[in-house]
Amino acid sequence: MTAIPARRFVRLGALAVCAVLFALAPGRGQTPATPAAGADTAVIEDVVVGSRILADFGVVDAFGHVSARHPANPNHFLMSRSLAPALVTADDVKEFDLDGNAVDARGRPVFLERFIHGEIYKARPDVMAVVHTHSPGVIPFTVTKVPLRPMFHNAAFLGAGAPVWEIRKDFGETDMLVRDPLLGKSLAQMLGDKSVVLMRGHGDVTVGPSVNVAVFRAYYTDVNARLQTQAAALGGDINFLTPEESVKADAINLVVLDRVWNLWKLRIAPTLGK
Ligand code: MN
Repeated sequence: MTAIPARRFVRLGALAVCAVLFALAPGRGQTPATPAAGADTAVIEDVVVGSRILADFGVVDAFGHVSARHPANPNHFLMSRSLAPALVTADDVKEFDLDGNAVDARGRPVFLERFIHGEIYKARPDVMAVVHTHSPGVIPFTVTKVPLRPMFHNAAFLGAGAPVWEIRKDFGETDMLVRDPLLGKSLAQMLGDKSVVLMRGHGDVTVGPSVNVAVFRAYYTDVNARLQTQAAALGGDINFLTPEESVKADAINLVVLDRVWNLWKLRIAPTLGK
């Protein structure tokens, strides 16, 4: 057996370390595997899955977005770069501060309405995820005086109320977009302590203690709105859930949410990696 001289051995070791470091470092023009440094990959996956689920259900189309508060830094949040929700991958999820500044945008465009998310995270320390949609079923309830109320147990969170934010009230004639922090702050104030806020002539925002809850609420806000429109078309009084029923049913929804989420993940699994 030939012994490797000590000096040569050290040199080989140094070369090996360099090779490993080179392999780990992102090359020029390439993207690192974990774009939001230090973020829990499970939370990033939830943002990806949630975006694709809502697209699959038609709650979002080319527009709309899902975000999560950064698990390790409550003053930052994770959100896709400007992209249709059905196309979001883990590599597209970026880190933002609560003023909506991208920590590292790498020259990629970001969502104009990111201020919805940042200002709600500022106003609501309990909120860990935010969803914004232009949910078609909801729009009629943003432009009429008919309040959105809980039709069935899955939408029990509506029992606490779904206020409508009227952008024209404080901001006059705009392009309807939440394009700066002042607009975001006003929207967050209208949300108050609720789970949902509707936006006149625009859509809605749902929030929750996790991504799956916020996505669940976005989906069932749309379903409830469609069902309420159907019930109203039948005529007569609607027998909504009472406030007490709403509180009890909402607690159960949060317990069985994993079952729903696992089914939804299965539903969009064939689209991942595309
Ligand atoms: Mn919008």
